[in-house]
Amino acid sequence: MSLLDLEKLSGRRPSEPDRLDVLATTLFRPMGADGLYARTGVYESVVAALAELISRYRPANAEVLRFPPVMSREILQISGYQNSFPNLLGCVCCLGGGNPLSAQDANGIEAGETWTDGLALADLVLTPAACYPVYPLVAKQGRVPRQGYVFDVACDCFRREPSRDIDRLQSFRMREYVRVGTPEQVKEFREGWIEQAKGITNQLGLPFRLELASDPFFGRTAPLMAAIQTENALKFELQIPILGEDRPTACMSFNYHRDHFGRVWGLAGEDGAVSHTGCVAFGMDRLAIALFAAHGVQLKTWPKPVRALLAI
Ligand code: 5GP
Ligand code: ZN
Repeated sequence: MSLLDLEKLSGRRPSEPDRLDVLATTLFRPMGADGLYARTGVYESVVAALAELISRYRPANAEVLRFPPVMSREILQISGYQNSFPNLLGCVCCLGGGNPLSAQDANGIEAGETWTDGLALADLVLTPAACYPVYPLVAKQGRVPRQGYVFDVACDCFRREPSRDIDRLQSFRMREYVRVGTPEQVKEFREGWIEQAKGITNQLGLPFRLELASDPFFGRTAPLMAAIQTENALKFELQIPILGEDRPTACMSFNYHRDHFGRVWGLAGEDGAVSHTGCVAFGMDRLAIALFAAHGVQLKTWPKPVRALLAI
């Protein structure tokens, strides 16, 4: 009896976890916490190639901004993140909250007291998505011009979702194209990007499906918030079967925020109408993992057209 027959008889699919284990051990090194990994050179070469590929599709006139992995807590609070996803948020705590160490703190540490007792909330949070820092910058530029804005942003993002699944990291890279303008401009941008993203994913030789989606809102209002999002088709995801056919992973999202950030940050066009915003987000780590899952851990065995496209 072959191993395959044994698997069928037992109803188990040991080859599935094996495949994922091989991916994890080849591409990552553990760092002592779930969903946190050191990335190997081969993995990083694919992330860099993907970033280069996405840059080739950068919309004309897009302003490029690269954000650090932390941002102002106040800016994120004004955006309302803590109301929708408080469970995912990581906040920075420092001794004295980031103020110079008090003599009391210093004495305590020298005396061998538990140093964490003196920690206090600082004015920084770990950035949970790459586009949050961009809207207050737009607000500083005055009225949004007739043609609107496009930004190319990227950030190391944090979400407190410890998991052993290789597609769910606590710290991951996100790249986004962000559109600010009239509702028509934002909708056209998003629709265009959904088509473009399908084309890119096809060229990468990855199976996918495009799904209407909702964010994992927290608390009692979660079902209502999710229903509003899906009823108005505010979020689509490009999902790729990394872990298995029955558990596809969202690797890109296409979001229409309507006037949420426009109202929050007072963004308005020359005619005074509140600006709308939208974004297309690329999960760089999920896309890289999806490529290795589909084509194998050895780059030299990948399909020639995919290697040519990525120049690897
Ligand atoms: P969204 O803001 O739509 O939840 O996330 C945007 C993109 O970031 C997702 O489509 C996905 O590719 C990526 N992303 C979100 N959560 C995770 C995660 O836990 N791990 C990884 N590797 N990527 C994530
Ligand atoms: Zn965004």
